[in-house]
Amino acid sequence: MLNLAALLEDTARAHPDRVATVLGAFRSTYAELNAAADRVAAGLLAHGVGPGDRVALSCPNLPYFPVAYYGILKAGAVVVPLNVLLNEREVAYHLRDAQAKAYFCFEGTPELPMGERGRGAFAQAPDCDLFVLITADPTAPAPEGETTLAGFGRDPGPGAVSRATSESDTAVVLYTSGTTGEPKGAELTHANLVLNAVICNRLFDMRPGDVHLVTLPLFHSFGQTVQMNAGLATGSTLVLLPRFDPDAALSLMESERVTFFAGVPTMYWALLNHPGADDHDLAGIAAALRVAVSGGSSLPVEVLHGFEERFDVPILEGYGLSETSPVATFNHMDRPRRPGTVGQPVWGIEVQVRREDGGVAGTGEPGEVCVRGSNIMKGYLGRPEATAEALDEQGWFRTGDIGVRDADGYLSIVDRKKDMIIRGGYNVYPRELEEVLLTHPDVSLAAVIGVPHEGIGEEVKAFVIRRPGAAVTEDALVEWCREHMAVYKYPRIVEFAEALPMTATGKILKRELS
Ligand code: AMP
Repeated sequence: MLNLAALLEDTARAHPDRVATVLGAFRSTYAELNAAADRVAAGLLAHGVGPGDRVALSCPNLPYFPVAYYGILKAGAVVVPLNVLLNEREVAYHLRDAQAKAYFCFEGTPELPMGERGRGAFAQAPDCDLFVLITADPTAPAPEGETTLAGFGRDPGPGAVSRATSESDTAVVLYTSGTTGEPKGAELTHANLVLNAVICNRLFDMRPGDVHLVTLPLFHSFGQTVQMNAGLATGSTLVLLPRFDPDAALSLMESERVTFFAGVPTMYWALLNHPGADDHDLAGIAAALRVAVSGGSSLPVEVLHGFEERFDVPILEGYGLSETSPVATFNHMDRPRRPGTVGQPVWGIEVQVRREDGGVAGTGEPGEVCVRGSNIMKGYLGRPEATAEALDEQGWFRTGDIGVRDADGYLSIVDRKKDMIIRGGYNVYPRELEEVLLTHPDVSLAAVIGVPHEGIGEEVKAFVIRRPGAAVTEDALVEWCREHMAVYKYPRIVEFAEALPMTATGKILKRELS
């Protein structure tokens, strides 16, 4: 029977003394991590939290994250990881929506008072009757009337940790990124997550000696599966960087001899354009780095080539969603890569591109990407209607993304269904326009949206961040686009911005633009 907690337990048995997590000078071995998770499980069971109960977790990329995550799983309970940036009202919504029975929450920092928000939210969640504070300093005394993670754990004693769960039971509920309406919890089973981790092991030829730089947030499916679960399954070392910063990332790559980097496109862009990059031993970094993985949103081809040239490592771009555990397609290591595409379906996963009428689209024809296989969620927690809309009787999951496949089955994500602009009856895919804008030497970042227009329904508008010192005008950019694409597509309005609103995983929040 597949069990997500067993990934850690098996490695702890095989490599007890290998380093599992690193944060600054702190290092924890696999044996220590596993024992700490056992104590959390025993603590939960002693509080009456066990199989099937949902336990929320708000924690940045600290060594406590895997301790709590695997501890919850070892109790047979379900982990509900929450975005660390949520405010009090949003946390309360998630605790109530998930009917969480317990809540582990990091104390936070003066800039990000997670503990304060968490306490406030806990008070608004009637089903939740256990609040465990995670303190940065494990020896810190618990605030009056509260329990801390360090104080909470107890020695499980032989056989005390329950493992009763079936592989089709839910292991994790992931709330989807929120770029699309009300957050919904995708229920992922033990089988979904174990198989997706094993697929990553195979895709990237992961080995016990691998050193991951883990700066993608662990509450999100990308970092959670591709780095934490897959990395811990192979005996890799996870070097944690809670807040991405290109200089800190390069320093860690250098000092820890990082072999595996996974990031979203904005991280690749920042690493490539970091003015202080030359102060680092780039040749040493390149010599150690074996795999670079990108996902989460589309990686501009310019950034891919620039990064590859500088760091002498191929970037493998893939595609997936929270609902698909997440990996669905990838540019494989042992096959020719096609930059600008998200590669081919991974082992055991099927992909279809469907036309509006439900028929299968031909080569080169855009349509909605649908995915079927071992990675597809059970459904959205407590939302049978939303589940029925997303999953059909044959097991196909409708992603809401628009894609095109080439003759060899390589998939390109053209856009999201919801982002598609319909201008005077023509479909316009913002992604295509953003790529054209990014080829302009003065453009650093671009986001294209549709704005209401009386005559033609929607007009195309581009938000652009210029490179430092660049002086390109709105008119010049409109003209640049007009020269490079069909007349119905090019943006008629260009607005310059200093910054664009982003999610924690680097997706531009287009619904906040107008
Ligand atoms: P999330 O559930 O937060 O992982 O978001 C999933 C969404 O991210 C997908 O539906 C896509 O719209 C987008 N996405 C993920 N990977 C890629 C990629 N490589 N290229 C373009 N979009 C992507």
